[in-house]
Amino acid sequence: MAHIRFRSAVAPLRRNLSHRPVQLPTVDRMVADLQPAEPMHCIRPQVLSATARRFIDLFDRAVGGDVLYAVKCNPDPAFLRALYRGGVRHFDCASPAEIRIVRQMFADAHVHYMHPVKNRAAIAKAWNDFAVRDFSLDSQEELDKILAVTGANDDLGLFIRLAMPKGAAAYDLSGKFGATLEEAVALLRRARPLARRLGVCFHVGSQMMDPAAYEAGIAIAGRVIAAAGVAIDVVDVGGGFPVAYPDMTPPDLQLYMDAIARGIAALNLPRETRIWCEPGRALVAAGGSVVVQVERRRGGDELFINDGIYGSLSDAGVPAFRFPCRLIRRSDAPLMPFSFWGPTCDSADRMKGPFLLPTDIREGDWIEIGQLGAYGATLRTEFNGFDQARLVEVVDQPLLATPGHRILPQLLEMAA
Ligand SMILES: *Cc1c(COP(=O)(O)O)cnc(C)c1O
Repeated sequence: MAHIRFRSAVAPLRRNLSHRPVQLPTVDRMVADLQPAEPMHCIRPQVLSATARRFIDLFDRAVGGDVLYAVKCNPDPAFLRALYRGGVRHFDCASPAEIRIVRQMFADAHVHYMHPVKNRAAIAKAWNDFAVRDFSLDSQEELDKILAVTGANDDLGLFIRLAMPKGAAAYDLSGKFGATLEEAVALLRRARPLARRLGVCFHVGSQMMDPAAYEAGIAIAGRVIAAAGVAIDVVDVGGGFPVAYPDMTPPDLQLYMDAIARGIAALNLPRETRIWCEPGRALVAAGGSVVVQVERRRGGDELFINDGIYGSLSDAGVPAFRFPCRLIRRSDAPLMPFSFWGPTCDSADRMKGPFLLPTDIREGDWIEIGQLGAYGATLRTEFNGFDQARLVEVVDQPLLATPGHRILPQLLEMAA
């Protein structure tokens, strides 16, 4: 196993792009071979590519629009490469580091800088070094900043981020960004003569469980557009598309597409208006998992494991996401609920779950935790020195089924 390299999982944006993850067959085989004592990040490239392909296809059929991948969700080069293979050509970036990695990897990528509050140096870097032309904003001050840095340029794309009401999302994003109706109207009128591409964008909140939120968001965009009375080139309905977790079964993705198509149809926009969306979680969650090892079992239902809220399991902490779990060995014991403690010395490093695992689980066992391709490894820190991890490619099925994705039986046979 000398060809497996150790690396810090922190700061994938600063990693050397020439390093590619090692190709191994299945998670179980990999655990048997490596007996990993540090968390093992697993990527399923075929799942990522197939998920991206399906999403792009559904969105195209619904509104004929463009799918921008929200890079912050997982900027790992191996993930970006798999999404690109699945047809992703547009990238929603929020920092110069994200822009740089996309530009370096893909010559034909369309990069959009969709963070509504940027510093001047970042705008200058995006504009001068990376030829980014599309910027989002939600205030007059930000518009002034963008104009001052880029100069009056006839190739500018300006996207006004609209405030959204609090909704049914697991992560409410309504408090931080977004212009009110009056502000948005003023911004659109001022931006129209300055922009080659003028758009409105919004985000209904992450892991949005209600498809109707998109229709409602589009209706708000429609009111802003009508009140401004200026021509709009792009309506960007944002991210927020949900994935399955053990306690959350979202409506079928097609219902989200239907809601978006209905909302857009109701606006009666000119034919040439482009529709964009910015999925993050929905494209990458299923394509990543983490294998952890049990270091202690205490009090019957508490497991100390070697990853936690300062590592890949941030969402299992305060947000209390329940992730699908699987014991990596044969056990016929019934399942019972467990909570997890992470490896750091902080008592906040606790994940209450419940996570369902066999009753006979013990110290030394390995557990695969699924749906962690989104907002998992990318949130890791090096707190307490627990930042070692390895990345391996695997071909087996993710823990929760991904609609529209079938593993080729030959691949699984080869891997067995
Ligand atoms: C985070 C983010 C996204 C992606 O959100 P998901 O809920 O992961 O789909 C899209 N657009 C913007 C502007 C974001 O900040």
